[in-house]
Amino acid sequence: MSAKTDTPRVERFNAGGFRIYRLRLQAFPDFYAHAHLVLGADTPTLIDVGSGWADSNDDLLAGFAELQAGHGEKVSLADVGRIIITHGHLDHFGGLAFVREHTRAPIGVHALDRRVLTNFEERVVLAAKSLRTFLIHAGLDEKRLGEMMQMYTFAKGLYHSVPVDFTLREDETVAEGFRFIHVPGHCPGQVCVQLADVLFTADHVLSRITPHQSPESITRNVGLGHYFDSLRKVRDLPGVNLCLGGHQLPIRNLAKRVDEIRRSHERRLSKVLQLCAEPTTVKDVSRSLFGAVNGYNVLLALQETGAHIEYLYQRGELAVANLEEVENAQQPAVLYHRV
Ligand SMILES: [Zn+2]
Ligand SMILES: [Zn+2]
Repeated sequence: MSAKTDTPRVERFNAGGFRIYRLRLQAFPDFYAHAHLVLGADTPTLIDVGSGWADSNDDLLAGFAELQAGHGEKVSLADVGRIIITHGHLDHFGGLAFVREHTRAPIGVHALDRRVLTNFEERVVLAAKSLRTFLIHAGLDEKRLGEMMQMYTFAKGLYHSVPVDFTLREDETVAEGFRFIHVPGHCPGQVCVQLADVLFTADHVLSRITPHQSPESITRNVGLGHYFDSLRKVRDLPGVNLCLGGHQLPIRNLAKRVDEIRRSHERRLSKVLQLCAEPTTVKDVSRSLFGAVNGYNVLLALQETGAHIEYLYQRGELAVANLEEVENAQQPAVLYHRV
């Protein structure tokens, strides 16, 4: 689930008549994300802005400095005239408050992630309630539950809401040729952005890892079922020769990578079914799938497992083994077994 650096600080790609600069940012300690600057359109357009952490903001400024020094591009952050946010995760939009100190460029995001940017505090409070219910059902004890909730709500202090100026719609292109493809799954408002023969895949398709999944019981329009539909939606997009993700390396063969990701989830689904031969909780399945992980990775592992169990449960392949307890207990752990 990490995305360590193996990419240069600034990398240039060409798409039709557009110049694309990929800026590598340290979004969180040892976790790298990309912002992409598109030049050659009506106005310099920035796709994602990093996390807003000190290193991420510094890297963004250093990336622009290198554009001028190393690539002869006379463009600064103040010249950016449009900002596109690919989805409502902090490593992609958290830098908006910082970027707005330099430019008042209009900000666009898909409607389903709009409120995350404009009403972040509200979003964290409500999502935390759903997460708490999920973790109780997953089988966490009080102590573990407290730790996880503290970790999750810590994010509340990392961002201050900003206004959004336009929404990214599938049936409308923006300026010359930015086309948006809505691909819910990893995030409700996840979009891929197509520009000439380049597809910015954001966190929908990544080169090395399967993008993180979380159950729909926590947030509507995420979940593995939506994700599979969205993989199908982009797999055979015509005219795509290069994919640039929000993390990791460029992808040249989209269909091949989509198939690998799909197979990886199918293997994991089979393993979950095996693990549920005896009644078991999300917590215990997660431990078997991911071993002993630490810190925030515990939460990520539980969500990933929850997404797989939910997918199987929704399709009638798993059933609840302790229904009476779930009905009567205040805070029941749910035991799942294979049907
Ligand atoms: Zn993401
Ligand atoms: Zn990301």
